Amino acid sequence: MIESKTLTKTIRSVRKMQAYANEARRKNYKIAFVPTMGALHDGHLKLISEGKKQGDILVISIFVNPAQFGPKEDFQKYKRDLEGDLKKIDTLGVDVVFVPSIEEIYPQGFQTYVEVVELQKPLCGKCRPGHFKGVVTIILKLFNIVKPHIALFGEKDYQQLKIIQKMVEDLNLEVDIRSIPIVRDKYGVALSSRNKYLSDKEKTSARKIIRTLHEIKGKFSKGMKDTTTIIDIGRKILNKDNSINIDYLEIRDPLTLQCKDKAKNGDLLAVAVRIGNARLIDNIRL
Ligand code: AMP
Repeated sequence: MIESKTLTKTIRSVRKMQAYANEARRKNYKIAFVPTMGALHDGHLKLISEGKKQGDILVISIFVNPAQFGPKEDFQKYKRDLEGDLKKIDTLGVDVVFVPSIEEIYPQGFQTYVEVVELQKPLCGKCRPGHFKGVVTIILKLFNIVKPHIALFGEKDYQQLKIIQKMVEDLNLEVDIRSIPIVRDKYGVALSSRNKYLSDKEKTSARKIIRTLHEIKGKFSKGMKDTTTIIDIGRKILNKDNSINIDYLEIRDPLTLQCKDKAKNGDLLAVAVRIGNARLIDNIRL
């Protein structure tokens, strides 16, 4: 089964995916894995092409995970387009697309969740209670189903990346977590499946996110180190645009995600804003 490396195989059942992974491992193939929620854009495609280089077998998953959406969030509305996604990855050499149903992943009676207690608290965890519990649980499940040697994640979801690395460390998982930098459009907007919710006017507002992060970084580079002062400047810039509602704009330690009084080189500058119906996140390092 594993020999046919040009055609992408779609697997829907957990058992079949596990059998495929067992067979690949028996043959000593290195499995690279890219988990996604579909609605694929160039950020996902970059992850997939990286994954292709790093493993012998490349598996991607497409699963809109209900457990990571809050009751008032966009789970119902989140774009699903399996056919379009399969077309987009057609030439990328993906060996398997794992597309389980919700019942396959969360059968009746499901009741086991995993939490990375401290790292999940700040930033997106504060605005989206329960979100990272859902993320960590699905990623651990997918690791047990796809059995990857390597898994790739985007730095756009920086907190998610740190949380998954911590889960792997704390639970002694033998998965090598790798990351890729944020893929942006020509205006610097971080690509996101949620950018599709934006009107043309809102898209123009979204361009201010990265510009503001760079303005903040500019102040830092010129010697301003007090985080409250720098962040205040950033908030003022974003607040000038009525379409932008800030969830958070913060400077944090890049490893522990703890707050800091004084910023230093390499610190994480992270932002989440709501524009219209979209919640957008972005980050850069100082
Ligand atoms: P999602 O489908 O939104 O769950 O994202 C799947 C993976 O793609 C995650 O590891 C994300 O961090 C990554 N990703 C999403 N957008 C981007 C982007 N613009 N640049 C790099 N990676 C991204």
